[in-house]
Amino acid sequence: MGLVVQKYGGTSVADLERIENVARRVIKEKESGNDVVVVLSAMAGETDRLINLAQQAAADPDPREYDALISTGEQVTVTLLAMMLKRLGYRARSFLGHQIKINTDRAFKKARIVKIDTRKIREELKKGAIIVVAGFQGVDEENNITTLGRGGSDTSAVALAAALKADVCEIYTDVDGVYTTDPNIYDKARRLDKISYDEMLEMARAGAKVLHPRSVELAKKFEVPVYVKSSFSDANGTLVTKEDKDMEKEVVSGVTYDRDQAKITVVNVPDRPGIAARLFTPLAEHNIMVDMIIQNASVDSLTDLTFTVSRKDVKQASILVQDAAKDIGAANVVIDDSVAKISIIGVGMVSHSGVAAKMFTTLAKEGINIEMISTSEIKISCVVKAKYTELAVMVLHDAFELEKQKS
Ligand code: ASP
Ligand code: MG
Repeated sequence: MGLVVQKYGGTSVADLERIENVARRVIKEKESGNDVVVVLSAMAGETDRLINLAQQAAADPDPREYDALISTGEQVTVTLLAMMLKRLGYRARSFLGHQIKINTDRAFKKARIVKIDTRKIREELKKGAIIVVAGFQGVDEENNITTLGRGGSDTSAVALAAALKADVCEIYTDVDGVYTTDPNIYDKARRLDKISYDEMLEMARAGAKVLHPRSVELAKKFEVPVYVKSSFSDANGTLVTKEDKDMEKEVVSGVTYDRDQAKITVVNVPDRPGIAARLFTPLAEHNIMVDMIIQNASVDSLTDLTFTVSRKDVKQASILVQDAAKDIGAANVVIDDSVAKISIIGVGMVSHSGVAAKMFTTLAKEGINIEMISTSEIKISCVVKAKYTELAVMVLHDAFELEKQKS
């Protein structure tokens, strides 16, 4: 007998009928002899609705109240599922973050889990219960409700799987796994049978929406095998796991895009110590994440500095940067929010040369200008005009022959 953590996303619990479908899947797992801990998201669209209400109540809602509000969507789904499981003849119990406890730090809207007390869950499992836990939420030291960032219930599930030493964490969603690229953009996208933690992490960070990046970090750290599956079919899904020999054969495993990008250029920055610190410290203080940064070699002690932020942060970022620019005597600040980041990812890159050159040549052939480049060991990203997103994804998918299974 094992222990399985199953997480169901918003579209899988969008209405009572779908929650009933989840109940049947959970029961099937239980009947096969395993203990089951279920983690749920809010009904699709519900968290957005709550956020919208908060923004109508106050332009800049108090973060403590905000988290307490937007965490309520999950309370609805977990209680409904527990009721149904009982009606169907099973012992079931729902838990909110603070009832367990799932302890987090105090960073409202993007709290990190620091500790999970598994006692209550274990007691209930011993009694034969199916446990249903609200995803996305936790509680800080002072008993304030916190949330883990949008899409955070994946992280709740993996963290619970790690804390309970579950055999597997299954993430049920509306797609049947991880694809070489977004099938909505390119119909040649192929489902991967497995993918390494590192590749999945880069994909999630580079814009693939299938898993919350933090959940993959945790899965890697605690070596939790994660299956991404569809709750609407019995297809196999994708296993996210440790890297193996097969995976290295593939130079590139996926192409991702991220349209949530805005580019900020500070023009004619004096080239002297302390400038970058003056520009980026205020952004950090306001919790604005900076993604790519490039600074050119200076001519006559003046240089341009360009970086990207999430589009939702661009307004605030530009105010902060304009302020800093004045301070340091830069000429002006230019904002471009019609850009996208296109990335290719693969552990095989480490041992193959010419991957970057092939990416650049492929984009050049289509007349797509590359505005910024950044690389890691297993990822190359280019910032291009947003209107080229689909084209860039398709030509790169073709160039690296991702529609073909290689191993
Ligand atoms: N309900 C939350 C959201 O919409 C958390 C999640 O679905 O993972 O972001
Ligand atoms: Mg999700």
